[in-house]
Amino acid sequence: MDLLNTLVEKGLRRELPTREEALAVLATSDDDVLEVVAAAGKVRRQWFGRRVKLNYLVNLKSGLCPEDCSYCSQRLGSKAEILKYTWLKPEEASEAAAAGVAGGAKRVCLVASGRGPTDRDVDRVSKTIEAIKEQNEGVEVCACLGLLSDGQAERLRDAGADAYNHNLNTSEGTYGDITTTHTYADRVDTVTKAHAAGLSACSGLIAGMGESDEDLVDVVFALRELDPDSVPVNFLIPFEGTPLAKEWHLTPQRCLRILAMTRFVCPDVEVRLAGGREVHLRSMQPLALHLANSIFLGDYLTSEGQAGKADLDMITDAGFEVEGTDTTTLPGHRAAGGGCGSVCGEKGGEGGCSDAAPAGEASGIPAAEPASEVPGARRDLVAVRRRGAGTDLAPNA
Ligand code: SF4
Repeated sequence: MDLLNTLVEKGLRRELPTREEALAVLATSDDDVLEVVAAAGKVRRQWFGRRVKLNYLVNLKSGLCPEDCSYCSQRLGSKAEILKYTWLKPEEASEAAAAGVAGGAKRVCLVASGRGPTDRDVDRVSKTIEAIKEQNEGVEVCACLGLLSDGQAERLRDAGADAYNHNLNTSEGTYGDITTTHTYADRVDTVTKAHAAGLSACSGLIAGMGESDEDLVDVVFALRELDPDSVPVNFLIPFEGTPLAKEWHLTPQRCLRILAMTRFVCPDVEVRLAGGREVHLRSMQPLALHLANSIFLGDYLTSEGQAGKADLDMITDAGFEVEGTDTTTLPGHRAAGGGCGSVCGEKGGEGGCSDAAPAGEASGIPAAEPASEVPGARRDLVAVRRRGAGTDLAPNA
């Protein structure tokens, strides 16, 4: 397929595809999905070999958020029966993080529900970062606390944070349909602040909220423009009790096309297979490792993932290997701060409390009437997290 040959060549040169090419990837048929995966897989292996970076989520504060992100089980008015608790103590968070590190995670992602941290919250998280760094040598810590005020990114960096996550989630054009309590521009501003403070920026998307192909291409191109080091690709987990509970639009093949498109647009960036993989990719998850070079180990913020052991077995069985702390994730030119723009001549290339794509009423996202559901949708795979942080039960790692 000429399209795929062109995209492989561009990906190997870190050159931005055209919007038409990105749209064409999303428009390929299910019959061509293996060719699409094989092509994007060449780009993935060029920049990341067969390594898979493992990340581990610790939900520091769960539920009771005043914001109204439609996809989120922690949102204002959510009826989802998730765990609700306030800030974990540093030692509790550190204990949870240690379980993930023992399971092979290289990065711990500290997430808190809410619009954004107060300065007191930043103090609290700083102590947690210090405790985790003291007890887990070589671990990377990413904070994900919502919208940042001036100076907070610098304080987190000084406390030892390596990265900050805040997702764009969807296109600028549809952002107002999924959230009304803050704007797309607010989100861009926080990613920019994290970047400017010298934190590794992590910003991604949530697919499956009823968006168009154009919206998906818009958000991935916008991410490339923001130049994050990592791009989590979440697939909506349609939680009962949230406005998007009836939005079941994704098939495994569609998920693979979205990941492939993201890889072609962000060839040398850590593309992370994030929330929703078990629910939407199901037995096709191993194919996604040919596209993404990073996954979350174990559970998500408010939902349970497959057993951590199953994640590790999947990586081995698919012929990949877990990336060790002695290896730098990003290719040399990016690790040195070169970014994509240094080669391809245009600025190339994560969202806070939505990293694990909790599900998302007030939504203006196409309210399909009746609710559209793809054949094979597996509502039974949505499991609310009942173990790990905030409970007395052992975490899944
Ligand atoms: S995504 Fe974050 S800000 Fe939005 S409702 Fe959920 S916890 Fe709150």
